[in-house]
Amino acid sequence: MTQRNLQARDGGQSPDLGVRDVQELFCRALHHRTAEHKAALKNAHLQTDAAPRDAGAAAGGNGAGRLGDPVEPAIVPSSVFFLPGDPAGPYQYARWSNPTWSALEEALSILEDAETVIFPSGMAAVAAVLCTLPKPGDRILLPSDAYYTTRSLADTYLKPAGVGIVTCASADLDRQDFTGFRLVWIETPSNPGLDICDIRKAAAKGRQAGATVIVDNTTATPLGQRPIELGADAVVSSDTKTINGHSDVVFGHVASRDARLIAVVRDWRKLSGAIPGPFESWLVHRGLETLEVRFERMCNNAEALAARLAEHPKVQQVKYPGLASHPAHAVAKSQMLRFAMILGVTLSDKSSAEKFINGCKFIRPTTSFGGVQTSAERRARWGDKVPEGFVRLSVGCEPLEELWKEMKAALDSL
Ligand code: PLP
Repeated sequence: MTQRNLQARDGGQSPDLGVRDVQELFCRALHHRTAEHKAALKNAHLQTDAAPRDAGAAAGGNGAGRLGDPVEPAIVPSSVFFLPGDPAGPYQYARWSNPTWSALEEALSILEDAETVIFPSGMAAVAAVLCTLPKPGDRILLPSDAYYTTRSLADTYLKPAGVGIVTCASADLDRQDFTGFRLVWIETPSNPGLDICDIRKAAAKGRQAGATVIVDNTTATPLGQRPIELGADAVVSSDTKTINGHSDVVFGHVASRDARLIAVVRDWRKLSGAIPGPFESWLVHRGLETLEVRFERMCNNAEALAARLAEHPKVQQVKYPGLASHPAHAVAKSQMLRFAMILGVTLSDKSSAEKFINGCKFIRPTTSFGGVQTSAERRARWGDKVPEGFVRLSVGCEPLEELWKEMKAALDSL
């Protein structure tokens, strides 16, 4: 795969860092074609051999299409593939590879501009990195305020195996010395506190210290932030959230330009058996096709709502990387293409927060985020270190004025 190595155009201070480049990547991902996938279809006799090879070119369009080719990937549920004689070919046994995976991995690799390996959940992607890179005796640095299951995984399995675990608040990462760390894990904006750390600086410090820098890019998505272009070694993502976007599948991926790292996580998937199902892979492929329009709507809605909510007398605080009041707004502007769809909204107490969430007819009271429907929850209910009245609001794709009308009514009634 050719990588385009997008760069900050003005040394990283531009809010427009690579927006058009990323849109181009998205278009290419949307129109990707998977040679292996097509070969599998052909082998499965789902396409006639009589089809002219170059129908697209003959019609003056793109030459990669063949007459009668399905435009969308097929769901290939086979656990075995026709394999006479010595093992050969891309598909041999379904724990190792699958044509529906290939289609999704190709699309995600184009969008990430880096080789991508898919997993059956975001945590399976996190585990593929955390359980393979650090060795006994290594030290790793994790965010103290980011997605708690990542810390739990490390505490439960890595610590007893002899890996030293140090934590640091995302907002303090700039002041943290990276010397002696094998791996540095970043989540920015962090979930749920929406703190920001400077990816460029962390990546440069990581390089100097010989640490592999991994960014959990779930909250921003590859359309909102490009950690690999900013110098990180790899990205992990919970595609359960915005990438799939329809709240109907649990999924994840790892992307990197480091061929060794990719080989290690691919091997982990094969050996541990943490493999995605073909149907789920197909669902995520379908979700990905509308990512750009969903993300655009969500970000626009979130930016408008952040400003309006901040003005409402019942709201104590709105935390959003796109607001000038965010303590790291300048860093967010320098590294995010869009500020994404999650707002931290603090109300006076637990009961007001619950009334707001449950009293607004266009908010779904759920955990998770990034779905087409606006959703919210009080994160203190899980023990996160946030005020009792802190609501993590995931802004969806509803028409803005309808959404605001209901939100305002729910707030006014508190
Ligand atoms: N990373 C972040 C930032 C998350 O918010 C989550 C889930 O909420 C995960 C990783 C784990 O993803 P999954 O639930 O798909 O396993």
